[in-house]
Amino acid sequence: MKTPNRIQIAIDGPVGAGKTTVGRRLAQVLGVRFLDTGLTYRAVTRECLARGIDPSDAGAVGRVALSIKLSVGISDTGDPVVIVDGKDVTEELRSVDIDRTVSAVSAIPAVRQHMVRAQRAIASSSAIVMVGRDIGTVVLPGAHLKIFLTASDATRARRRHAELSAQGSKVTYDAVLDALRSRDRIDSERETSPLRPARDARIVDTDNMSLEEVVNTIVRLVPAV
Ligand code: C5P
Repeated sequence: MKTPNRIQIAIDGPVGAGKTTVGRRLAQVLGVRFLDTGLTYRAVTRECLARGIDPSDAGAVGRVALSIKLSVGISDTGDPVVIVDGKDVTEELRSVDIDRTVSAVSAIPAVRQHMVRAQRAIASSSAIVMVGRDIGTVVLPGAHLKIFLTASDATRARRRHAELSAQGSKVTYDAVLDALRSRDRIDSERETSPLRPARDARIVDTDNMSLEEVVNTIVRLVPAV
């Protein structure tokens, strides 16, 4: 498929709706870059936990976000690589501790301001598929295509539970479901850029769809730019 060299595609949605898997595959199909913005918030959260900073201390957390040198690249195998102050922290970012804390950290306006600036800088250089919570509403309001991915709570918890179990975690399905609902609530109710579909987003319910079906559905929506 021929892809315009500056196309911007925004994919937003709640925890476990499939944004990362779908976004990454879509970017591959279109031959454009991919950025999972959740990793940037996770990296700030990891740094706060490592420094023993209270996630509810907005001033201290904001200073951490501003002080770290964060870069998100792609490995030879196409996986994201997150470097903070020269250290590869990628493998640490999907821990249960970070899952538990990341929504509080990302609700802090100073953190968002800094991350959004960094994310826009990445998008300005080439065509991109970007996934997150506020991409269509705040980060790239002029994106050529905006998708809001959804799925039922049960489907999303099942996916997230399988992902964690594959990493060796012993966390139960019920705990995953509770954590996911709590994260969605904080993400949707925060004052700064809450999780919600952009007015011009296409809603795609992934409940009974395979990865390929979701990707093909989105590919059909990609406009000629
Ligand atoms: O997508 P992922 O689950 O990795 O995101 C982790 C958290 O980062 C979300 O629950 C949300 O609090 C925050 N986030 C955000 N805005 C984004 C991406 C992620 O607030 N664009």
